[in-house]
Amino acid sequence: MNAATPAERMLTELGISEPKEIDLDAIAWTKGAVVNYRPMDSCEATIVGTRRRAVISINSRSSPKRRRFSLAHEIGHWHHHRGRILFCGKSDVCNFANGPLDPERQADGFASDLILPNFMVTPRLRKMKRPTLAAARELAGEFEASLTATLFKMTVLNRFPIVLVCHNKEKRRWFERAKMIQPWWVPAKQLDPQTFAAEMLFKGAAEQAFPRKMPADAWFDVRGGDDLEVEEQSFLLPNEEILTILKLPDEAVA
Ligand SMILES: [Zn+2]
Repeated sequence: MNAATPAERMLTELGISEPKEIDLDAIAWTKGAVVNYRPMDSCEATIVGTRRRAVISINSRSSPKRRRFSLAHEIGHWHHHRGRILFCGKSDVCNFANGPLDPERQADGFASDLILPNFMVTPRLRKMKRPTLAAARELAGEFEASLTATLFKMTVLNRFPIVLVCHNKEKRRWFERAKMIQPWWVPAKQLDPQTFAAEMLFKGAAEQAFPRKMPADAWFDVRGGDDLEVEEQSFLLPNEEILTILKLPDEAVA
């Protein structure tokens, strides 16, 4: 069992133990931050505060899940970067392409632990039979989290031999690999035309209801990749990007 993160400690101190109890406005209030929702043109959220009190503003034009993640992100800034005035743009909040030392990624990490706390997600993952989009959507619904944030958490928690990868039409934008996978399994920089992901992104093919098998070398440049198979399942993101879950064979597990 991993040590509790700052966000998880915050939940535990407030006696919160179930997903439906994670009321972010109330949590912000107990920490001295008032939240207001208003239309904003140039950013997703802001925080303005002294050492003790803060006002968090959230863009009311964003979707409910986006607003929820943005608020958790600002509570993360309040915890880690207190006393600064921060304007968080669309590319700052929930951007898995940011580097690990970036304060925006730090706030995202906090948000991920506040919305999808490990101690609540882990027991649910134990009951999950396969890491499919359907299973991830069910989990995302229970936690009011985005599918991307939920899949990211599923990968980091290292329950399944999976790699999560995001591509646009030109290149790979980011990926995350379960720790159990050998580190040389790095997904391709560009989508191979034979993948189902490429069919969806470039040819408008529909999302697959179930993961489908694909030769491993369509996704990974590894020795013996033409003899191995991976399972892939993808969904489209806004802005012509696609997110794919790849379930790797036993040979890829360290
Ligand atoms: Zn931020």
